[in-house]
Amino acid sequence: MQHYDVIIIGSGLGGLVCGAILSRHGYRVCIYEKNRQTGGCLQTWSRDKVIFDSGVHYIGGLAPGENLYKVFKYLGIYDKLRLKRMDMDGFDHISFAGDDKVYRIAQGEENFIRTLLADFPGEEAALRAYCSKISEVCSKFPLYNLRTGDYEEKRSVLQLNTADYLRSITGNEKLQQVLAGNNLLYAGVAEKTPFYVHALVVNSYMQSSWKCIDGGSQIGKLLCRQIREHGGEVIRNMAVTAIKGEGDRVDHVVLQDGSKAQATHYISNLHPAQTMAITHSDVLRSAYRNRIQGLENSVGAFVLNVALKPRTFKYLNYNHYYHASDNAWAGIAYKEEEWPQTYAMYVSASSKDETWADSLSVMTYMRYEEVQPWRHTFNTVLQTGSRGADYEAFKEKKANLLIDCVEKQFPGFRDCIHTSYVATPLSYRDYIGTGDGSMYGIAKDSADPLRSMVSARTKLSNLYLTGQNLNLHGILGVTISGVITSAELLGMGFLVDEINQSIYT
Ligand SMILES: Cc1cc2nc3c(=O)[nH]c(=O)nc-3n(C[C@H](O)[C@H](O)[C@H](O)COP(=O)(O)OP(=O)(O)OC[C@H]3O[C@@H](n4cnc5c(N)ncnc54)[C@H](O)[C@@H]3O)c2cc1C
Repeated sequence: MQHYDVIIIGSGLGGLVCGAILSRHGYRVCIYEKNRQTGGCLQTWSRDKVIFDSGVHYIGGLAPGENLYKVFKYLGIYDKLRLKRMDMDGFDHISFAGDDKVYRIAQGEENFIRTLLADFPGEEAALRAYCSKISEVCSKFPLYNLRTGDYEEKRSVLQLNTADYLRSITGNEKLQQVLAGNNLLYAGVAEKTPFYVHALVVNSYMQSSWKCIDGGSQIGKLLCRQIREHGGEVIRNMAVTAIKGEGDRVDHVVLQDGSKAQATHYISNLHPAQTMAITHSDVLRSAYRNRIQGLENSVGAFVLNVALKPRTFKYLNYNHYYHASDNAWAGIAYKEEEWPQTYAMYVSASSKDETWADSLSVMTYMRYEEVQPWRHTFNTVLQTGSRGADYEAFKEKKANLLIDCVEKQFPGFRDCIHTSYVATPLSYRDYIGTGDGSMYGIAKDSADPLRSMVSARTKLSNLYLTGQNLNLHGILGVTISGVITSAELLGMGFLVDEINQSIYT
């Protein structure tokens, strides 16, 4: 049986960050990935000679001195990334049905305030209060600031609800909605989303927003290179089918070809519920399993990926968020007959042309129940399977509805489409291995913050978790999850010091 120091199950960003950190510290790491391509949601795919992202449309915190910059620099990948900074005066444009204005979310605190003041001249106090609250809340999350600290620091802000907070700073309902206008970024639910989730996500983009030129898979590929250069292995097309416990430890994992592999430590990058489902151990009592498996997930996504006809659609160096009512939170609780109620348009940055776009993605919500009729089907490039003609008809109908909606803000859009490809919650379920194709994993609730908190440690002493369900989703959140999990082996103080020191070397 193969023996490693660390076996990592899944090569999503969290698994790769752990692999890169631990391999550079001399651990013999092996990552098993079920897909042909590494990276999980970092994967890109190409059709009609254009590249599509599956789950990274823009990234925050990457300017020199910022949090993600520091970690990526430490990981040895920053200097090789091909990035494009988005519009300083509006990286996100927010629009609402029945309102001709487009509201711009700008980079840099003063610029952000100045830009919105043009639309809300009497709201300077509210905008300043909002920015200082964001800074205050972010300062309470030690690792977000790449320092050590403890849970007590953040306890006081965990129960603050985003929509409530926005109502508290201004009576201007339009401004409240504009500030929540890009909540597709965290699948916001008005009565649930904690303000800390809003603050950590929005703050990183307000500091600096970037697109990956030619797609986000470069992050995964660079991390794999780092892992291999440090003696680690990344084995693709190899699912882990079981984690076998003995006493209070994992003894080995079983691979899809029936072989076994052993390590001193095991890290699962899978959704915790999927990890539980494949873990065989008496130590995991049913109360623990039930808690993990009963956690509510965020909703799924429906993504229309469009290859554009040449020179028909200009490259937009910003994202466009649209709401079909004056309520930015309403789109997630859509009635099927009124779908879609919101969308985000992300135009891809290509190295081929800076003026004209060659592809874009339009993302909106879709509940898993809508694709339930085809839940027994499975389809990936590695394991192809037809979901049937009725599924194709469903996708086409939905794509047309979404295109009709986009047409209202971008007249002529339909004529720019060369071809389009649709991803539904089933696509994400099959490629990523989640149970229900959820976009961002476990949903957070300001009324019960502890319930959704998952620790990197499990009841098995050598099994750890990592990835978006641990901490926060997104490239920044998951990178920090990778640091948290790696720190279980290396020590948090040591690792944080090392990351902070590395930018001076
Ligand atoms: C539609 C969409 C758009 C997004 N847009 C953005 C964005 O613009 N900016 C941003 O910052 N974030 C965005 N995100 C979020 C971000 O992409 C994710 O939070 C992040 O990539 C998740 O990383 P992870 O480590 O949790 O792993 P995941 O990406 O969930 O990967 C898990 C990996 O485990 C593998 N795996 C599963 N089961 C097994 C098994 N049994 N054996 C072996 N391997 C297995 C999977 O194949 C996969 O590679 C988006 C997400 C989605 C879905």
